[in-house]
Amino acid sequence: MIQLGDFKLHLLNDCTVRVDAGGAFGLVPRVLYAAAFLPPDEDNLLPMTHHNLLVQAHGKNILLDSGYGSKMTEKQRGYFHYEQYNGGTLGGLARLGLSPEDIDLVIDTHLHNDHCGGNTAYAEDGSLVPVFPNAEYVVQRREYEDASHPNERTRATYIAANFRPLMESGQMRLLDGDTEFVPGVCGVVTPGHTPGHMSVRLESGGQHAAFVCDLATYCVHFERLGWMTAYDLEPMITLETKRQWQAWGLETNALLIFPHDPLRPMGRLTEDAEGKRTVVKVDEAYA
Ligand SMILES: [Zn+2]
Repeated sequence: MIQLGDFKLHLLNDCTVRVDAGGAFGLVPRVLYAAAFLPPDEDNLLPMTHHNLLVQAHGKNILLDSGYGSKMTEKQRGYFHYEQYNGGTLGGLARLGLSPEDIDLVIDTHLHNDHCGGNTAYAEDGSLVPVFPNAEYVVQRREYEDASHPNERTRATYIAANFRPLMESGQMRLLDGDTEFVPGVCGVVTPGHTPGHMSVRLESGGQHAAFVCDLATYCVHFERLGWMTAYDLEPMITLETKRQWQAWGLETNALLIFPHDPLRPMGRLTEDAEGKRTVVKVDEAYA
């Protein structure tokens, strides 16, 4: 657990998958990312962890992203080499003494399946139900619109079962831009990965943190402005958004949390005398 002023932050490990290195690094030459991150295996796959964050602030349990959830078929899991340890997101919450009923707010950074698949689940009768029955779910309106009208490139990851039932039941609220949910917990639009992508900034007692999410999939994507995934829909906008966030990270010494990095899930940005920017890992156990 990380204490940030009055807030408590718990890093949750949803699962680990393996993804094609071409997707994760796009135009970056293999020899460079193999040295700066990890060399891919013989099938050109790289490990990708899925982190969610529980923020306890002002008496509220706030979950940032819900992970893949339970709706994928065995075949789909096999395709991603999906592995879950210790019960994933819900297992982590249980070890903190929390049940799904205890979550007050679910912040969906964006509606890709690996970030919001855990919003809903199939009940025994086959109907879709919210996993967090007492929570309000929030997402940017732009993201919801894009997810509701996917194209040939985005439709594999924008799955209506993850969000439409929540809108229909009135449990999901759409946001129009940056939003403070409770004092010190702010959703900030960070376009690039998707136009409606949102990161979450946290501030308590003069200390700062951020759930960077897919503004920088791996930590090394945050350090190197020109490196981004091939999944990013607007890579040049990712670059400019990261430039602003690097400056903010240096200025505030914020604890930065990366959604998919198995090596450095958390760290702080530093700059040396030559101007080289490096994220220094902060060691933190999973809940
Ligand atoms: Zn992601």
